[in-house]
Amino acid sequence: MNDRVHLTLEEVHEIAADALRAKGYSTRHARAIADTVTAAERDECASHGLFRIPFYVKALQEAGVSPDAEPVFRDLAPAVIRADAHFGFAPLTLQLGADPLERRARELGIAALAIVNAYNVAALWPEVERLAERGLVAFAFTAALQYVAPAGGTRPVYGTNPMAFAWPRAGRPPLVFDQASSASARGEIQIHLRDGRPLPEGWAIGPDGEPTTDPATALAGAQLPFGGHKGAAIALMVELLAGALVGDVFSFEAHAKDAGRVGAPCGGEFMIAIDPARCTGDGDRGAQLAHAETLFAKVLEQDGTRLPSDRRYRARERTPTEGVTIPGSLHDTLRGYIDG
Ligand code: NDP
Repeated sequence: MNDRVHLTLEEVHEIAADALRAKGYSTRHARAIADTVTAAERDECASHGLFRIPFYVKALQEAGVSPDAEPVFRDLAPAVIRADAHFGFAPLTLQLGADPLERRARELGIAALAIVNAYNVAALWPEVERLAERGLVAFAFTAALQYVAPAGGTRPVYGTNPMAFAWPRAGRPPLVFDQASSASARGEIQIHLRDGRPLPEGWAIGPDGEPTTDPATALAGAQLPFGGHKGAAIALMVELLAGALVGDVFSFEAHAKDAGRVGAPCGGEFMIAIDPARCTGDGDRGAQLAHAETLFAKVLEQDGTRLPSDRRYRARERTPTEGVTIPGSLHDTLRGYIDG
């Protein structure tokens, strides 16, 4: 077995889609999931790349995931569209939801997409970046599973609850940030466990409530919010937006359904899209975008700074020609799905 296997991005997409189809996903779901996995590998976000395919497969075998659910969209209000993913994974709903959300945001200035019954183990930057590439400002929020202790507590209540934000830029890719409200994404802890590396301090506590750098103890205990009570407040907000607001579950309720077997939460996602041209009296988008650039330039004039998403965009310059490498064991697992 090779330690690392080299793949082009086309091969990444092909092995992901073939593995998902071989395990029972419809072509539409397999393609949509393979798109997000390939985007993650392209941007060197390994914890949301091919590493995730076994989660998607296990979720189909052990959780109540639909392999072929077609999302259903319904207007709840002029500016609010509901998307019922019908227990499929989120990427297909997010791809299909982008057009109606964009249309409403342009008509009304601001619009929301309230997604329910979606399984989600992906990063959120693809959905906000997609809208910002079309000139919109975008937010996305999703709750997850009960992994994170509230500030001052020792037992998990919140999910790792990411939120993402994207801002369109003239002549360059959007500015995007996408961050968990925990000190780290859970996938990072799983990757540390796989690679036998200790965690950085401050990521987690063990079942005894004591700080730990051991990945297995951390996974059995609780993750910590980033920045103490401030990250915990964001986790709380995300629970409310992606749970109570859209009419879906909180992380602790999703955990009861998943029973910790698969780690694929089923629940809601809330997205907001804003047409920047409708937010100033004169609708001068050029001035808005140029003004934003002065802020970015001010940040970047200091050594040691960078903008969120710049790391991904730098990776994106390399990987389409250089390809990526993945662990040989992961490659064997994916080939095993395909070859039966
Ligand atoms: P990181 O802490 O790695 O990064 C968070 C953000 O900060 C990124 O936008 C990153 O940009 C930016 N950033 C990092 N370092 C700097 C810096 N020095 N200067 C400026 N910006 C910086 O992400 P997390 O570990 O919090 O989350 C990882 C992923 O996990 C997210 O994509 C999230 O959506 C996903 N996730 C998904 C969940 C789900 O249930 N679906 C649950 C929890 C997390 P860049 O990308 O350029 O490095």
